[in-house]
Amino acid sequence: MSAGRVVERSPVVFRIPMTTRFRGQTVREGVLIEGPAGWGEFSPFPEYGPRESARWLACAREAASEGWPAPVRASIPVNTTVPAVGPEQAHAMVRRSGCATAKVKVAERGQGFADDLARVEAVRDALGPAGKVRVDANGAWDVAEALRNLKELDRFDLEYAEQPCATLAELARVRRGCDVPIAADESIRRAEDPLQVRAAEAADIAVVKVQPLGGVRAALRVVEACGLPAVVSSAVETSVGLAAGVALAACLPELPYACGLGTMSLLSGDVVTDSLVPVSGALEVRRPAVDFSVMSAFIVDSPSWLRRMQEAAS
Ligand SMILES: [Mg+2]
Repeated sequence: MSAGRVVERSPVVFRIPMTTRFRGQTVREGVLIEGPAGWGEFSPFPEYGPRESARWLACAREAASEGWPAPVRASIPVNTTVPAVGPEQAHAMVRRSGCATAKVKVAERGQGFADDLARVEAVRDALGPAGKVRVDANGAWDVAEALRNLKELDRFDLEYAEQPCATLAELARVRRGCDVPIAADESIRRAEDPLQVRAAEAADIAVVKVQPLGGVRAALRVVEACGLPAVVSSAVETSVGLAAGVALAACLPELPYACGLGTMSLLSGDVVTDSLVPVSGALEVRRPAVDFSVMSAFIVDSPSWLRRMQEAAS
């Protein structure tokens, strides 16, 4: 083991600077716990209270104590994500990624629809006709804007539109009014949400994340109950947390879409040596081992995080 703090046992609090600002954050923090089955990650976003965080903890505990169901595939196709950059940069990012699917951020505050159009056009050009282009508006459009903009963007042949509007009622209206399939992302944050999405006929696709849904087994049950095809996405975790998302994607009976698990590049470091980074647009189904010498650079003393975990447990 190299110089640095030697960690003897869990829990360990980590703090890793992000390469890109995400959800207003510039660092990603959380707790790693170790159990008989391996390491698990507890990293609820700052605004989540004990009740919501309990599910995130259940995911970490499942990873540490039980492990996950057996995979039915060995590799998970992932999308590259194109932030609200200019068209040249968007084109270069997609070419560099090696991915056949790109998720393009649209409806960025301070930009206009012409920026979205130019970015999506550049991405389609970079991928070629066989590639898949999806857009993500993070709930920013109203129904009229969504209908107008999606119709316009669909000339670049959209795979689907993620959360064009904020509410389920709005999503349902957009879905009825346009040909582009609709995916629910922000609308799915709790285990009961996918069922409401289905009941409202608000989406064709469910974006699911293992931590907020309470682990791989819980997420599997949710996907089964809601009956929509799932796109497994990360909550921008370390490779320890990402491995749980990979495990879910690996054991879903059907996986028709590329997943949003190629997010390691958003973090400036990791807690394992062989990070879960995509190669040729896919992640290998595996569970990298925590490397103490690598992890030690990111360990912090944080009684508040340990308290957060305790509160989520009670
Ligand atoms: Mg999204």
